[in-house]
Amino acid sequence: MRALCWEGVDRLAVREVPDPGILNDADAIVRVRASSVCGSDLHLINGYLPAMRKGDILGHEFLGDVVEVGPAVRRLRPGDRVVVGSIIGCGACWYCQRGEWSLCDNSNPTPLFGDRLWGHAAAGIFGYSHATGGFAGSHADYVRVPFADHGAFPVPDDLTDLQAVFASDAVPTGWMAADMCGLRGGEVVAIWGAGGVGQMAARAATLLGAERVIIIDRYADRLTTAHQRLGVDTLNYGEVDVAGALREMTAGRGPDACIEAVGLEAHGAQPTYGYDKVKQLARLQTDRPTAVRQAIMTCRKGGTVSIVGVFSGLVDKFPLGAAMNKALTLRMGQQHPQRYIPMLLDRISAGDIDPSYLATHPMPLEDGPRGYQMFERKQDGCLRAVLQPAG
Ligand code: NAD
Ligand code: ZN
Repeated sequence: MRALCWEGVDRLAVREVPDPGILNDADAIVRVRASSVCGSDLHLINGYLPAMRKGDILGHEFLGDVVEVGPAVRRLRPGDRVVVGSIIGCGACWYCQRGEWSLCDNSNPTPLFGDRLWGHAAAGIFGYSHATGGFAGSHADYVRVPFADHGAFPVPDDLTDLQAVFASDAVPTGWMAADMCGLRGGEVVAIWGAGGVGQMAARAATLLGAERVIIIDRYADRLTTAHQRLGVDTLNYGEVDVAGALREMTAGRGPDACIEAVGLEAHGAQPTYGYDKVKQLARLQTDRPTAVRQAIMTCRKGGTVSIVGVFSGLVDKFPLGAAMNKALTLRMGQQHPQRYIPMLLDRISAGDIDPSYLATHPMPLEDGPRGYQMFERKQDGCLRAVLQPAG
């Protein structure tokens, strides 16, 4: 089969590789219909998660047709069109039983990296380096889905591939970001990052009762899309002082909840951005927490900061004093797809959420390297390139 492989920092190629097969009784093999790029892939491509190997197949946000199931699979049959959560959960361990699927104790066969760097390893993730299991990703003709009964969800016939594919990752991640804010209704929620994740967090915050949602980025086209599609307010941090503007919009108090949907490659207008960049290049910190700092500093006293942007290791100048003295609640994590996907498929069917507009650039698998380049450079209004192996 064909697959989009990582060939070294910033080098991708489509190659012929062996087809996957059933390895465990609970596996399914899925023929990929649509597989999206995601901001998380950029961190891998750019070498910020140092556990990639040449030839690794990328991709974790996908939908396809079941073509084969292992003998222990009960809920799926060949021919089912399924959306598959990006994070793999066994369904049986202590964490999965509590609904904390991204903390699964059984789905990551290479836990050493996480054990050493984080104290405990996290769950396996498709196409997401050897820190999270070294699983082959979905930018390919076929993909092996472990614990398929738990991770693959049949898609209602009324949904198109491009409506349902984002139920794998961007929609549940955005939902979880808003869910972690503990909204009761009437809040002001500020969101850093107007990518697919930030935009889906904005929709979720509105559906969960926020009175006003403000999304922050420097790409005017992304902000315009968010305003037109989701009816949210926008701030361009390249043009305005975000901290001052947020104070003004909240009678001096600051947002009730701040969502960070940017991650470890944040940019910034402040002098600290240059500082972060130099320290990251010198490997004195692994991540650039530019947006996290701003979220903590601008959040109102007693508010919540919810972080879904991905971070890998250590950061410098983390404003712990502000978080402590303002009594902030800090929530964060990789998403729990299995917890949210069924509810979100229903909401997409009902028209509450229509994520299909994120698929600005559907394209054949062969064009993957070009799709990534457009996505990384945010060219031509690219919110997400979606690879469609069958054309
Ligand atoms: P994306 O690259 O499309 O969007 C990121 C956006 O952040 C860009 O538009 C960029 O301009 C903006 N940005 C950069 N610096 C900023 C700053 N200082 N202030 C405000 N905006 C800034 O990525 P995406 O697909 O939307 O993903 C966003 C983040 O979410 C990534 O870190 C990704 O790894 C992470 N993610 C997490 C999960 C999870 O389970 N927690 C799942 C999917 C993605
Ligand atoms: Zn588990």
